[in-house]
Amino acid sequence: LQGYVGFANLPNQVHRKSVKKGFNFTIMVVGESGLGKSTLVNTLFNAPLYPPKEHVPLSEESPKTVDIQVLSTDIEENGVRLKLNVVDTPGFGDFINNEESWKPILQTIESRFDAYLEQENRVNRSKITDTRVNACLYFIAPTGHSLKSLDIEFMKRLHNKVNLIPVIAKSDTMTNEEIVAFKERILLDIAHHGIKIYHALHYDCDDAETVNETKDVMSKIPFAIVGSDKLVETADGRQVRGRQYPWGIIEVDNEEHCDFVKLRQMLIRTHMEELKEFTNDIHYENYRTEKLIAMGF
Ligand code: GDP
Ligand code: MG
Repeated sequence: LQGYVGFANLPNQVHRKSVKKGFNFTIMVVGESGLGKSTLVNTLFNAPLYPPKEHVPLSEESPKTVDIQVLSTDIEENGVRLKLNVVDTPGFGDFINNEESWKPILQTIESRFDAYLEQENRVNRSKITDTRVNACLYFIAPTGHSLKSLDIEFMKRLHNKVNLIPVIAKSDTMTNEEIVAFKERILLDIAHHGIKIYHALHYDCDDAETVNETKDVMSKIPFAIVGSDKLVETADGRQVRGRQYPWGIIEVDNEEHCDFVKLRQMLIRTHMEELKEFTNDIHYENYRTEKLIAMGF
């Protein structure tokens, strides 16, 4: 199953519509350096999208800025074409003063809304390229403490612009008990600060199985994730993607070990359509309305 992603199992309607046209799905990853963003992206899509790290020495003088890097890959599965774009944001949170780290990220999201708006206003709208950001994975350091002010500031600035999905980075560095407690803590902080994170809706037409699946996925937020693009051998001789410890292996693709599988299922299979809908119907629509009002319409 190497290379198999599963988006071809999207609900039929999307499937039919997209068979011919193909479609875009854009994920953004944000979080401090070293939290495993690049590794997770590679893990998510199996094939390494990232070239090996270049060791560019950073001079002390040159001020670091948040860099925006876009990686795209075309995946085809059962005749369905998906253009998967990942927007990476190296440098976030790396400054001495991080007060405005969120700004270049907000700008990127808004400029993608602008590009879409501009295309919508053209006479010929048959070829609209949708580069709007459909989901933002926000990486929280596995500290076990409350959220940092950087985390809170970022989420408050962005929650009305994008579907925010908080994740606990490198969760293999915490015990299961610590993860459970940390998740509770994070959700309390998020509620306390009035931050809106992505929450899937239930629909009247959902069958019991879908309802349970959605509940199950939502109960995992913030997803405790482990990334690894290396294969390791388990005690019983299986080759798995994972991280080796003296006491054993944490398997990326084992739901008992972390929430990676659940996160991927949600993004690529069960909730891709809804993430795209929320992007268009809520975040983009708000942006468009605000913009038109500001222009005096
Ligand atoms: P980025 O700066 O956020 O893109 O982080 P990278 O993906 O470059 O990862 C930074 C370091 O953390 C690398 O040495 C990775 O091998 C390691 N790493 C990535 N994901 C995990 C994880 O889930 N658990 C652990 N323990 N280490 C990880
Ligand atoms: Mg990186």
